[in-house]
Amino acid sequence: MLHRLWGENVKRIAVLTSGGDAPGMNAAIRSVVRTGLYHGLTVFGVSRGYLGLMNGEMEEMDTRSVGDIVQRAGTILRSARSEKFKTEEGRREALFQLEKRGIEGLVVIGGDGSFRGAKCLADLGVATIGIPASIDNDVACTDLAIGFDTAANTAVDAITKIRDTASSHGRVNVIEVMGRTTGFLALAAGLAGGAEYILIPEIEFDLDDICEKILSGYQRGKTHNIVVVAEGVGGYHAPGREFGHSAGFEVGKALKEKTGLETRVTVLGYIQRGGAPTVQDRLIASRFGLRAVELLMSGKAGRMVGLTQGEIRDYDIDYAVSQKKAVNLDDYRLSEMLT
Ligand code: ADP
Repeated sequence: MLHRLWGENVKRIAVLTSGGDAPGMNAAIRSVVRTGLYHGLTVFGVSRGYLGLMNGEMEEMDTRSVGDIVQRAGTILRSARSEKFKTEEGRREALFQLEKRGIEGLVVIGGDGSFRGAKCLADLGVATIGIPASIDNDVACTDLAIGFDTAANTAVDAITKIRDTASSHGRVNVIEVMGRTTGFLALAAGLAGGAEYILIPEIEFDLDDICEKILSGYQRGKTHNIVVVAEGVGGYHAPGREFGHSAGFEVGKALKEKTGLETRVTVLGYIQRGGAPTVQDRLIASRFGLRAVELLMSGKAGRMVGLTQGEIRDYDIDYAVSQKKAVNLDDYRLSEMLT
C-alpha cells in the first residue's frame, strides 16, 4: 500500500494548519491555495488540523477564499491538537476522508508534532509536505519557521518599552518569553533588545553569579538590568502556569531575594502569537507555499520545506523530525560580550 497515491499527476490537494498557531500561517495558506489554483489543481482547506481532517471538515477553496488574509495573524483554517490522530484508528479515519474526495496530496503547516503526524499519513500513502510554522523556531532543517520573526519583533518591542520605564527606576526587570524547550526566541529577542542577561533551557547559568554582576553594575550607577528568560528554563512551563508558577517569576523571586533590588516580572505570554506578520514571515510563508505545491506536482512526498542560507530547500520529513535544532552558541557568547 505504500506510496499508493503518489505520482506526478497529483491534481487534488488539501491544506491544514496544526498545533500552535503562528503569525504568517495565513500567508502560507494563501500561497498554497493560489499557487495550486494557478497550476490547475483543486485545493481543499481543512478546518481544525488533524481533528477536522478526521471529521471531514473541509471545503474546496477558490482565490477569494484566501483574500484579505496575508496581513492577519492566526489561521483562517483554525488549528487544533488531537490525541486521537496519534492512533492508527484516527489516521485511518483521516485517510478515509481524503480518499472519499479523491485528495492525493496534503500540505501540513505546523511544527515538529504536526510533521510527525504528516509522516504517519505519508506512511499510509498520502503525499504529505510540511511547511514549518512555529514561533519557537524549534523545527530542524530550516533557519526560520513561519511566525518566529514576528514573535521576536513583538518581544523586542516589549523589551524596549520595559527598558524605558526600567531606566527611570533602576529596577531589575525580568521578561519571560515563549520557548518551552528551546531558547531561540529568548536569544533573538534578548540580543536584539539589548538584554543584560538571557536565560535559556539549553545553557546552564549561575544565578549567584548573575546577582553579583547585577549588584556591581548597580554600584557603578547602572540604571537598568533586563533579564530575558525562556519559559522552559528550570522546568516551570505549562502545567503549573495558571497557578503563577513560571520561569520568569521563579527567576525574579530569586534575583530579588539575593540582590535586595526592586524586581519586576513581565510574562509576555500570548501577545507573542498575535500581530500582523512581518515582511520576513510573509515572504517565507509565500515561498514555502509555492515550493510545497511544486513538490506535490512533481510527485515528491514525505518532505518538508525549509530556508537554508537564504534559499528554499526541501528535506526528508522523517529526518527533519529526528533532528534537534541547536541554538547558535556564537549568538549566546555575543550577548555576553555585549552586556
Ligand atoms: P506542533 O506542530 O506545533 O509541534 P503539537 O506537538 O501539538 O504541535 O502537534 C500537533 C498535532 O500533531 C497533535 O495534536 C497530533 O494530532 C499530531 N501529532 C503530534 N505528534 C504526533 C505523532 N508522534 N504521531 C502522530 N501525530 C502526531
